[in-house]
Amino acid sequence: MKKIIVATKNKGKAKEFKEFFASFDIEAISLLDLPESIPDIEETGTTFEENAALKAEEISERFNTAVIADDSGLIIDALDGRPGLFSARYAGEPTNDQANIEKVLQEMQDVPEKDRNARFICVLAIAQPDQDTIFKTGFCEGEIGSESRGSHGFGYDPIFIPQGYEVTMAELDPKEKNRISHRKNAIDHLEKWLHTL
Ligand code: IMP
Repeated sequence: MKKIIVATKNKGKAKEFKEFFASFDIEAISLLDLPESIPDIEETGTTFEENAALKAEEISERFNTAVIADDSGLIIDALDGRPGLFSARYAGEPTNDQANIEKVLQEMQDVPEKDRNARFICVLAIAQPDQDTIFKTGFCEGEIGSESRGSHGFGYDPIFIPQGYEVTMAELDPKEKNRISHRKNAIDHLEKWLHTL
C-alpha cells in the first residue's frame, strides 16, 4: 500500500485524513504514529499557505519523502474574519477547543441570526524532495449557532452549522462531515496528484 506522511499531531485531523486517503488506497501516517517524537513546528507564517508549507516542508526534509500538511481555521464575517489564522489558540495557549468555543459564543452573543455567516477553510500543502510545494484550498460554508451542540468531530464543530443543515457539524455522522467538509473539498482538488503518488 502507498504511504504518505501527514504533518499533524491533531487527533481529529489525523483521523479524517486517514479516512480520506484510505479511499485512494493510501495509508496516511500522522506524526502521532511515528516512533520518534517530532518537535512542534512554530506556525510563524502570516497566511494559511505559509503555515501549511512550513509544516509540510520541514517534515519532508526530515524524512526525505512526500508530506502533506493542512493549515485550517474558522472565518467569521461578523468578527472581521476571526479567529482565522489563530483558530487553534484563539483563547490562548495551550490549545483548548472548549475555551475557544466559549470565546466565540461570547463575542457573537449580540449578533443576529442573519449576520452569523462563517466558513471553514483548509489549505493543504504537499511538499516533496526537490519539487515545488503544491497548494490546494477547500471551504465549507455555514453559520455560527447560539450554543454548543454535539460530540463528534473536534475544534469548532459544535457551534458550526453547515449550509443546508439544521444541526451542527458535531451532531452530524462523521461520514457526513467528511463528505462536506473544507478538508474533503481541498482533498478533492488534489485527486489528480494522488493518482501520481
Ligand atoms: P491548525 O491548522 O493546526 O493551525 O489549527 C486549526 C484549528 O482550526 C483547529 O485547532 C480548530 O480549532 C479549527 N479547525 C480546523 N478544522 C476544523 C474542523 O474540521 N472542525 C472544527 N474546527 C476546525
